[in-house]
Amino acid sequence: MNTLADAANKSLREVTLQLKWLHQFQFSGYYMAIENGYYRDVGLKVNVIERTPNSVPVEQLLSGQVEFAVADAGTLLYRAAGMPVVALAAIFQHSPSILLTNTDMGIQSLNDLKGKAVRLSTGFNNIELETMLNNAGITLDELLRVPIDDPTDNFISGKTKALNAYSTNEPFFFQQQGVALTVFRPRDYGVDFYGDILTTTENLISNEPELVQNFLDASLKGWAYAIEHQEETIEMILTKYNSQHKTRDHLNFEAQESIKLIMPDIVPVGYMHEKRWQHIADILTNRGDLKDGLELSEFIYQPESSTTIWALLQTYGRQITIIFCAVAAIFLVAHIFNLRAQVQLHTKDLQNANLKLQNEARTDSLTGLPNRRHYMEVFSRDVEQARRIKGVLSVIIADIDHFKQVNDSYGHAAGDEALRRVAQVLRNNTRKGDFFARLGGEEFVISCPNTDKPEAMQLAERLRLDLENTEVIFNDQTFSITISLGITSLQDNDDEERLLHRADLALYEAKLEGRNRSVYRV
Ligand code: GH3
Ligand code: MG
Ligand code: MG
Repeated sequence: MNTLADAANKSLREVTLQLKWLHQFQFSGYYMAIENGYYRDVGLKVNVIERTPNSVPVEQLLSGQVEFAVADAGTLLYRAAGMPVVALAAIFQHSPSILLTNTDMGIQSLNDLKGKAVRLSTGFNNIELETMLNNAGITLDELLRVPIDDPTDNFISGKTKALNAYSTNEPFFFQQQGVALTVFRPRDYGVDFYGDILTTTENLISNEPELVQNFLDASLKGWAYAIEHQEETIEMILTKYNSQHKTRDHLNFEAQESIKLIMPDIVPVGYMHEKRWQHIADILTNRGDLKDGLELSEFIYQPESSTTIWALLQTYGRQITIIFCAVAAIFLVAHIFNLRAQVQLHTKDLQNANLKLQNEARTDSLTGLPNRRHYMEVFSRDVEQARRIKGVLSVIIADIDHFKQVNDSYGHAAGDEALRRVAQVLRNNTRKGDFFARLGGEEFVISCPNTDKPEAMQLAERLRLDLENTEVIFNDQTFSITISLGITSLQDNDDEERLLHRADLALYEAKLEGRNRSVYRV
């Protein structure tokens, strides 16, 4: 009895995909394309067949037994030898091929493997591991090679020091056995091969381009689904494709590790770049495995140009949008950061300029001391504070004696040096809380909160004696200067002006009394 489904099936074109190993998560994209009807939707019925012993997927493809095959990057060598094989997609952006050592067996570096038992396969995977060893300065004949069927127990017990493995598979098994593993990745030694490659023949592409494109699109759609629905995919493998009787945990491990190599967050699934293939070709050429004559553009599948952008958009529309948005966002953020940095820089410049102006307006450039203006601000505050708490406050005004003569005798520049000398004496002798400034000309002032008459007199004398006893050295001239000081303290009903005026009168008295002295005035 013919059903509608039978009728539909009859019109489907049947093709076969040869896997490079037994059913497992490694091929889940193809399973999900079947299960979700992605192939059927484009008129295809796809048979997925496991690898059989002693068969090579690419050779089955080239002999016409299958239309598509999952192969390794070594397919490049077939192309270089003139075989019409074409890479449609690189599912694993990096090869899962690794070398494992048992951490407890004391192998710290690849170099420690010299003369030790190492299990390595033959075939293409071996090329990656061999090149890694070569790059680390080891040749294969420096190892004690044990055959590929060497029991894994020998590795667990430490008899075999290292073995080749797939990052997606064996580590799970050994971890279950409690073996601590050290992983050596070819990638870390400058050998970065693609992993699973979906391939077909040049003939099929030229004879049935639409079929090839449809198969590729549906397969990648299946992959996208499998990656996004891991649990469902694993459930599907457990019920329909579990010829190896893997556990759910093992499949979970495989899924995690596979996705690390597929890198769906970074590239659209299956992404290939000529530079990556060139890197692989270069390594094979350096080894002498590949002779001239490889035309990469013939090896890497190019969809019909008219459909390229459309097909890309259809297949990777979401990824392209996400990448576009991400790039736009990065540019925007970078731009904002740049603007902010510039604004910050300008603000900083302005702040610095402002600060400089402010300082200039408040600082005497010759001595670096606060100027009169700055002094008056602080002095007002000091007076205000002392009156509020009914505390003591003294003021000292100092004036250089016969300064005019200093300028006349030694020159104006020497006079400047004398002014700086006075500033230094003030810095050296005043105490914390004292505030001193250059009032103008050769006149200086010190405001001394919490300081009574005896203490103020003491400070004035200290300043006077210090200056008297240190010489001013300018160029080859040495001379001494003296100061006269007028001192007073805050009285009731005093304001800043009266206070300063009294200090000035005291200074005048000191001058009259013969200079180089301190006079206190109530
Ligand atoms: P007395 O101590 O008795 O008051 O005499 P004096 O010569 O110090 O006082 P006078 O006010 O007559 O002269 C002050 C001099 O200080 C005049 C001026 O040339 C000099 N002077 C003022 N400011 C500066 C300055 O910044 N640098 C130099 N080198 N001299 C200055
Ligand atoms: Mg003077
Ligand atoms: Mg003066």
